[in-house]
Amino acid sequence: MSDAFDERRRGLEEEYFHRKNQEAIEKLREKMKVSAEAKAAGTSLMKCPRCDNALKEHKIDEVSVDTCKQCGGIWLDSSELERLVNHEGEGFFGRLWSAFVDKSSNAE
Ligand SMILES: [Zn+2]
Repeated sequence: MSDAFDERRRGLEEEYFHRKNQEAIEKLREKMKVSAEAKAAGTSLMKCPRCDNALKEHKIDEVSVDTCKQCGGIWLDSSELERLVNHEGEGFFGRLWSAFVDKSSNAE
């Protein structure tokens, strides 16, 4: 009697983990599909933080800038802003960056 119960329990466990694996594989396939579609369309994988629209990626002087057609937002990753600042030197972004870095080092 207990053998039949154990067998049934094992069967249910196997079925459960098989279903979980299938769900994980489907999620991964969906991510890969979205990534391939974004790459083909020249858009970023990220959505606009303001309006959730697709972002278009542009390369400007080796810096990748994401723009949103819907709200006009222009988005940079932190490393991209740093590269722009280094590229620009003592211009507006350079002064802005120095002010930001000075304030965050005083806060510590
Ligand atoms: Zn937007």
